[in-house]
Amino acid sequence: MAHPKRRHSNTRTRTRRAHDFITPKSLSACSHCGAKNIPHRICPQCGYYKGKQRVTLKVKEDKKK
Ligand SMILES: [Zn+2]
Repeated sequence: MAHPKRRHSNTRTRTRRAHDFITPKSLSACSHCGAKNIPHRICPQCGYYKGKQRVTLKVKEDKKK
């Protein structure tokens, strides 16, 4: 079986892992309902964007009818 010839230095390992972090996604509050949503998107809670109703959202129906 092949083996690594040399041990990696701590710096080489840390340099590789420098990009391995996750940044939290930035969220903004909806101007209509105040719910947090992704910026520049229609609000998934109320369907408003830039002060107007853009999408009429379907009301959740019960599974039992
Ligand atoms: Zn909203």
